[in-house]
Amino acid sequence: MPTCASRLLRVPLCVLLVIAASVLAAETPTPYGPVSLPFKLYQVPGAPVYYVIGHSGVPGADNEGHTSNAGFVVTEEGVVVFDALGTPALGYRLLQRIREVTDQPIDRIVISHYHADHIYGLQAFKEHAGDPPVWAQRQALGYVDGTASSQGEDAQRRLAQRREALFPWVDESTIIVPPDHTFDTGTTFEVGRISFELKHLGPAHAPGDSIMLVKDYGVLFSGDVIYKGRVPFLDSPETDIDRWLQGLDYLSSLEPQPRYVIPGHGRPSDNLQQAIALTRDYITYVRTAMRKAVADFVPFDEAYEATDWSAYKDLPAFEASNRGNAYRIYLEMEAESF
Ligand SMILES: [Zn+2]
Repeated sequence: MPTCASRLLRVPLCVLLVIAASVLAAETPTPYGPVSLPFKLYQVPGAPVYYVIGHSGVPGADNEGHTSNAGFVVTEEGVVVFDALGTPALGYRLLQRIREVTDQPIDRIVISHYHADHIYGLQAFKEHAGDPPVWAQRQALGYVDGTASSQGEDAQRRLAQRREALFPWVDESTIIVPPDHTFDTGTTFEVGRISFELKHLGPAHAPGDSIMLVKDYGVLFSGDVIYKGRVPFLDSPETDIDRWLQGLDYLSSLEPQPRYVIPGHGRPSDNLQQAIALTRDYITYVRTAMRKAVADFVPFDEAYEATDWSAYKDLPAFEASNRGNAYRIYLEMEAESF
């Protein structure tokens, strides 16, 4: 915890910078504070499907917590939102973008998985969009009620960390909104004559990892099962490599193939196989290298140095994640070998 003095020193500078940037951007602050970085809305060609793209990197003051993607589908009877971004202010900005496109009510919000960078924006929808129901895979409940000893990311500790790292965008008034409805293996629904399918592919990157297919338009919201343009994050006790790879196989065999993929992080793609390739190749590469090292009794440090990382070393998040990822997999391989 910072001292009062550090807070006093930090807050005015931080707030001043934010206000200055937001004046430059000429967008009014949200009820949860300003969003000063550009917040551009994109549309999937030929479909009433829209999305915003987060910045690469870990959530911090430089990106104001906007590191993940989110999107929405406009139907004749309401809007289906997928993921809610990493701060209440970002959630509110997303709601504003929706209102620039349609007056339809928010029918529901589907959450790909309960991790801070995808859910803190829910608060804005609950407080400013008519309290729409939130849908998530059942294991989201483990996150909401979780403790440090439960499986998965500890929600309260993460919230405390974000109140530091993302202040003033995440502060004492930021809350974790639980899901109103949950599903197990998956579910389908229809809104305004558009068919949707939710499917649980976790535990992969997180226990509840789920995707949403907008069937009529061949659009796939993949959540963090697919990472694009950066090194995937594997260094977590809740990551399940085998199941993750199975989930990617499932996606790559979908018939008909989705024509457009919006991942949880990184740019969208109109080539599903290509979008899957980085995540799958990376996981497979790390696993193969670490499995061989364990089989040959090579200590981790030595194995890590001896592994050729050239295919990945220039990707964002390589420095931050690669060694931890490799170590996590090494330990897993070691445990398997006993
Ligand atoms: Zn994420």
